[in-house]
Amino acid sequence: MGRVYNFSAGPAQLPVSVLERAQEELLSYQEKGMSVMEMSHRSSDFKKIIERTEELIRELMEIPETYRVLFIQGGASLQFSMVPLNLLKDGGHAYYVNTGSWSKKALSEAKKIGEAKILASSDDQNFTYIPELDLQQINEQTDYVHITTNNTIEGTRFTKFPNTGHVPLVADASSNILSEQWDVSKFGLIYAGAQKNLGISGLTIVIIREDLIGHVKADIPTMLNYETYTKNNSLYNTPPTFAIYITMLLMEWLKEQGGVAAIEERNKEKANLLYKAIEDSKLFYSNVKREDRSLMNIPFMTDSDELNKLFVKEAEQEGLHQLKGHRSVGGMRASIYNAMPIEGVKALVDFMNEFERKHI
Ligand code: PMP
Repeated sequence: MGRVYNFSAGPAQLPVSVLERAQEELLSYQEKGMSVMEMSHRSSDFKKIIERTEELIRELMEIPETYRVLFIQGGASLQFSMVPLNLLKDGGHAYYVNTGSWSKKALSEAKKIGEAKILASSDDQNFTYIPELDLQQINEQTDYVHITTNNTIEGTRFTKFPNTGHVPLVADASSNILSEQWDVSKFGLIYAGAQKNLGISGLTIVIIREDLIGHVKADIPTMLNYETYTKNNSLYNTPPTFAIYITMLLMEWLKEQGGVAAIEERNKEKANLLYKAIEDSKLFYSNVKREDRSLMNIPFMTDSDELNKLFVKEAEQEGLHQLKGHRSVGGMRASIYNAMPIEGVKALVDFMNEFERKHI
């Protein structure tokens, strides 16, 4: 079929069965004589798609009744602005945990809107660990605490979430939503761009506790107000219909796999395989603190820029694509989201072993 193992950080590999189903239904969705791309977002057929997508996300993540699930455009990056616009109150402030490039961007956008401060940071060691949080600093004026659950570029993740008490915990979960079982009730708001574990780009999912909606301090643009989405079931304007449909297919696939508990086991198995290969190697290494390692994005490198380049090039010739590390970290990075089969990780480990034999 000519498919490769795609280790891209996102947009990322999708299961073949999802692509095949989209292909089968491309010219005529359920014998309607048109594709989902051509369908009115107000049609009853599309309404069923968006409702089913929400139902599946709710079921898979066990989202309590008191939360709303919103379908928004603009990527996770737009949430960097929407979160403070909607949650910051007069005289209030937000605390950000600075764990990498995406956290920094979230913080700098929040600063444009109101007072946003750093609660903890790991920039002293190039973001190779998750810092301890001093929760004593939170007070009545704290409107929310923002974390990045998984740091896509640096390869770290929160393995446990801080208890921020009555202050809402807001999470950018773009790169590890649905990869592990979480207790959604610990969060006030979770957001994620879809192009990793939720589907394709163009769609962002926001899961927000109901009591956080409708308290904006100023008259903000309609499209940036969460209330616009809750009042109109995410159909105030035309949503990214095809992206929502792909999310529905991917969520059905995830359910068939046994849901989040089952995929978590497999994700751990996949990540352990790769981490073990790095640990056992005399050529490859990782700087990330063991306890804080990501299950989704695994940076690794050799001491030589030339060997790193050669690795990426030769891996591609073997059907292992997109292994180049982010420019801020260098070396290689393997992103192994839910849809990456264990065979892909095994093929990567085999290639690493072979490369090491040749170059050590
Ligand atoms: N946050 C994290 C953790 C990410 O990994 C990314 C994308 N790689 C973003 C935010 C930005 O997402 P988007 O491109 O959807 O705006």
